[in-house]
Amino acid sequence: MKQVLTDLQLRDLRHVWHPCSQMKDYEAFPPIVIKKGQGVWLYDEHDQRYLDAVSSWWVNLFGHANPRISKALSEQAFTLEHTIFANFTHEPAIQLAEKLTALAPQGLHKVFFADNGSSAIEVALKMSFQYHMQTGKPAKKRFLALTDAYHGETIGALSIGGVGLYNEVYQPLLLDTVRAKGPDCFRCPFQEDPASCNAPCSQFVEEQLQAHHEEITAVIIEPLIQAAAGMKMYPPVYLQRLRALCSHYDVHFIADEIAVGFGRTGTLFACQQADIMPDFMCLSKGLTGGYLPLSVVLTTEQIYDAFYDDYGTMKAFLHSHSYSGNTLACRVALEVLTMFQEEQVMEMIQHKGQYMRALAMEAFCDMPYVGEYRQVGLVGAIELVKDRRTKEAFASEERIGYQIYQRALTKGLLIRPLGNVLYFMPPYIISEEEMSFMIHTTKETIEQFFQDRGAKVG
Ligand SMILES: *Cc1c(COP(=O)(O)O)cnc(C)c1O
Repeated sequence: MKQVLTDLQLRDLRHVWHPCSQMKDYEAFPPIVIKKGQGVWLYDEHDQRYLDAVSSWWVNLFGHANPRISKALSEQAFTLEHTIFANFTHEPAIQLAEKLTALAPQGLHKVFFADNGSSAIEVALKMSFQYHMQTGKPAKKRFLALTDAYHGETIGALSIGGVGLYNEVYQPLLLDTVRAKGPDCFRCPFQEDPASCNAPCSQFVEEQLQAHHEEITAVIIEPLIQAAAGMKMYPPVYLQRLRALCSHYDVHFIADEIAVGFGRTGTLFACQQADIMPDFMCLSKGLTGGYLPLSVVLTTEQIYDAFYDDYGTMKAFLHSHSYSGNTLACRVALEVLTMFQEEQVMEMIQHKGQYMRALAMEAFCDMPYVGEYRQVGLVGAIELVKDRRTKEAFASEERIGYQIYQRALTKGLLIRPLGNVLYFMPPYIISEEEMSFMIHTTKETIEQFFQDRGAKVG
């Protein structure tokens, strides 16, 4: 069926190359032009609205066009928008660094600013390598990462990523990463009960560390949820195991909290559920509540000190981005953290998480093709399977999740999937009524999709 495109859609397709898209798909499914946002809702040019159940790629925390954040941003814009950040500084960055180090796991006292998640990962990798080089361990130049890991899409970040969809093509360009099998609770090879699990699967990391620790500089991990892999969730004990292993083998522990930081998992940072301190913590996405690109890498005095010397020793960390420590972004992040403190956000997440879990368990647990509903904090995921008993997956070419997503859009719900996994990661300000709409519209869409598909297949 030929679509009638609006002027803006035509002009978009003439020049714009969209992220994470096969642009040919846009022939049948043109880009939706969003004119305004309010709370959890996005409004298109025909005033059709969509509930943003994925927080616009996991960045939004307090709703679109949030009055409090918008006001802070606007005031800052009329005072100072940006300044060079080498030799210069500004109050929003200083205050933000103070707040972050006070809220983060104890011991992370130093803050390095970058401007997006992937860049924060590059910073942590480079710092870890350079630290070891400058402290007498130059052989340490490989990173250990997990299967199904996602850490961003610049070349260094892709190298440690384990999702083939994103890095397969680029293999010839990538760093030589040590890969260990990560946790897989839905298809657990040890058949552990998550409630009493002691993370025997951490042995896969241990084996690699045993064999290669002399050349490994850091282990990098997404705490509690391997998000891009399909919201794969695992218990805190796994993090405790890895932390102990890293300390034992003198390998850094890099916590990539870019997706899970700022309350998503029910604690401000996911590492806090395991009560561990990483050597590096990377933050972005929710840091500015979905307003502006900004990222930070938090690290320890010990690591900082290995770079601190007379200029001539060339030990400095000479990494920079034009927009390092952007003033507007820092001011917005500061407002976001102040909201966490003043508006009882963690309690709200607890409460709404319980509400969402109850609704979702009721809606999805007995549905055909639903292998599992899982949730941590205010992140919920439905894993669709061909066969509930064997957990056999749908072939990715079938694009089951994608088709359900397209149908849900016609009902005013945005749930862009990850393969066969549909998930909910809504802004925290979502109301109970909106959560109910989100869950029930998803259920209805899945049901109708499989009914129609069944009728077609036979
Ligand atoms: C999104 C993400 C990144 C990359 O952040 P960008 O800002 O998209 O470069 C890195 N790690 C994790 C866990 C992420 O979810």
